[in-house]
Amino acid sequence: MAGSRRPRAFMTYTGRFAPSPTGPLHFGSLLAALASYLDARHHNGQWLVRIEDLDPPREAAGASDAILRCLENFGFEWDGEVIYQSQRHEYYREHLQLLIAGQNAYYCNCSRQQLRQRSGSHLYDGYCLTHPPAGSEGCAIRCRVPATANPENATFSDRIQGLQLAYCSEDFVLFRRDGFFAYQLAVVLDDAVQKITHVVRGSDLLDSTPKQLQLQQRLNLPDLSYAHIPVAANDQGQKLSKQTFARALDDEPVPQLLAALEFLGQQPLQH
Ligand code: GLU
Repeated sequence: MAGSRRPRAFMTYTGRFAPSPTGPLHFGSLLAALASYLDARHHNGQWLVRIEDLDPPREAAGASDAILRCLENFGFEWDGEVIYQSQRHEYYREHLQLLIAGQNAYYCNCSRQQLRQRSGSHLYDGYCLTHPPAGSEGCAIRCRVPATANPENATFSDRIQGLQLAYCSEDFVLFRRDGFFAYQLAVVLDDAVQKITHVVRGSDLLDSTPKQLQLQQRLNLPDLSYAHIPVAANDQGQKLSKQTFARALDDEPVPQLLAALEFLGQQPLQH
């Protein structure tokens, strides 16, 4: 039964599946769940589930429970307790304060419009680093990314995608102006708290990895191993997601698991 597995000895691998409860799981989420689960079990590792419920306006009522029920129905067995990011705000707040105190993060009240007018670019120009806002009310908090002389030398090795640029092009948001903690902050802190060693997830998140590496460095956190799997697309070539109306997984796990295994390059029906 989920949550009650006995601890395994000599584990050096801890993986995770970290869905955002914006709706029911679809085929794209199944790929991430399955790839991370099988990689963890193949390495005799643990596999944790974390609900990334950071953004209430985008969340669907009951979606977290539905996701867990669906995982169970598909035969996934996770280790330990499920953690919910909505219950971890105090921890995120403390770390934001540490980052600010260490000059690794700063308040910013620039609007997109101001940024566009100033620099004509959507990339943040660091204005509030040199012109700090008078107060913190209504501000975002950005991670300070030091200038890199040779960005092309900053790389990381992805187990599937190979060598990737780790260059982070702007001071990115850790806390949003609308008052919510940003994914980049929560994912880095929680991967560390849960002692995750291996991240296996969709390649739509490849762009986020340099930011996460940067923040891990600022916080002196251990390195993780990354593997970004190809993402599934619909007939129009759009990534399957709630926004593109991806169909929810149904109650017939076997055909969907077989299709997911095939997509991941496995031969589920060959012995
Ligand atoms: N919560 C993110 C999502 O559902 C995944 C985060 C991650 O795997 O790092 O897209």
